[in-house]
Amino acid sequence: MSASLATVSYIGATILFILSLGGLSNPETSRRGNLYGMIGMAIAVLATVFGPRVTMGGIPWIIAAMVAGGTVGLYAARTVKMTQMPELVALMHSLVGLAACLVGFASYIDPSSAMHLVDGNMVPLSEAEKAIHEIEIYVGILIGAITFSGSIIAFGKLSGKIGGNPMLLPARHFINLAGLLVVIYFGREFLHATSISDGMLSLVVMTFIALLFGVHMVMAIGGADMPVVVSMLNSYSGWAAAATGFMLSNDLLIVTGALVGSSGAILSYIMCAAMNRHFISVIAGGFGTTSGAAPAAGAEPAGEVVSISSAETAELLNEAKNVIIIPGYGMAVAQAQHTVYEITKHLREKGVNVRFGIHPVAGRMPGHMNVLLAEAKVPYDIVMEMDELNDDFPKTDVAMVIGANDIVNPGAQDDPNSPIAGMPVLEAWKAKTSIVMKRSMASGYAGVDNPLFYKENNRMLFGDAKKMLDEVLVVLKG
Ligand code: NDP
Repeated sequence: MSASLATVSYIGATILFILSLGGLSNPETSRRGNLYGMIGMAIAVLATVFGPRVTMGGIPWIIAAMVAGGTVGLYAARTVKMTQMPELVALMHSLVGLAACLVGFASYIDPSSAMHLVDGNMVPLSEAEKAIHEIEIYVGILIGAITFSGSIIAFGKLSGKIGGNPMLLPARHFINLAGLLVVIYFGREFLHATSISDGMLSLVVMTFIALLFGVHMVMAIGGADMPVVVSMLNSYSGWAAAATGFMLSNDLLIVTGALVGSSGAILSYIMCAAMNRHFISVIAGGFGTTSGAAPAAGAEPAGEVVSISSAETAELLNEAKNVIIIPGYGMAVAQAQHTVYEITKHLREKGVNVRFGIHPVAGRMPGHMNVLLAEAKVPYDIVMEMDELNDDFPKTDVAMVIGANDIVNPGAQDDPNSPIAGMPVLEAWKAKTSIVMKRSMASGYAGVDNPLFYKENNRMLFGDAKKMLDEVLVVLKG
């Protein structure tokens, strides 16, 4: 493939990626957005593999690597459960970081990287160009290493292999500052290195510090703030890819990385707003407490919990005119979305106004609930964002909370000491009756007790969400 055809293909792929992002911003156009992304990526891969920078001898290696990677990817995508998706995404981010590190080291060792193509001939880089190339390598490895180790820790936290407690080392900000100064010092040494082995030493020291920083940064973030970390690492992986693009002089990779990096940064901002947190304070760490397990002792709200049967739930729904369904992580665990849809359909046919209230951090990844509801074919026009219907709860007969916990916790508004204090929540307790479906009294991801359960107008439907909703549906239809 000629260089000009490769360039045209890259421009086409870039346009498709931008259209893809545009499509993904709305559920109704998201399928199209995905398709654009897939076509763009296919064009990008073909134009790179058959482009002017790959020799014929390299193609079998690339194809072998693609088959191996593609097989692992296909297997992972087919076997991963929907609830494991956030962990898979975190692992994928770590691979982008690792790739940036490996490309950085390879670029430094490779003698041809000190040359570039001018009019079809390889000519050495000028002093200034060489310095810029080395800065690209240094910064690329730095971002890559932070992304790699940070994503591995995020994977551990999301999968429950590492506890959600923030790890707060004494003088942690000073440790970070000292790390930064050492990284700057070795960056200077790297640029002035007279031999590859000298430069290598600086790179290895910096990589080691960057890996430690990635671990420290994510370990210091408490369970409640993990949504920001997930989107932040998404952004980092984009910048790592862009850095790789600079190292390889690949324009498409630079543009694509920048698109991912900036959209991830915007998403982090949206997540911060959704949780009423300042970005810097999240990164500085320390918010959130324990995750999962039993509520913290001493903090238990007083009052009694009133449980309800599935038949009584069906009765309340039958009598209701306005219903708001609030799905959370438990709906994904139970895979209850299809039964939720059946119940919704039944109630709507009877003239009940059923709507869904989606909290921005519901579930374990951005958009988690929207994906589940779309999979179950719930119409988009009744799926609302938190802000769109929070004022409607007082006019609602039944607020049905399905496997959600933190996102309906009134303590976020009333208790200034709560780890989720200040996070906007769906005000389910303002409905005439709220029904919370979950298996036990265990807390949610942020590890805080939920005063909603003890409210007078609240009922608890204990059990697996899918099983209980199946029973509710049978009674509704019967
Ligand atoms: P929570 O984690 O607060 O609560 C989920 C509830 O679901 C649990 O209390 C659990 O209770 C219940 N549950 C689990 N399995 C089942 C089942 N099979 N049937 C019925 N219930 C079940 O989830 P929310 O969606 O309310 O809140 C999301 C939390 O995750 C927030 O704290 C958010 O910060 C965090 N987070 C979000 C991310 C994102 O990007 N969206 C990323 C990382 C973290 P029980 O065990 O008693 O059944």
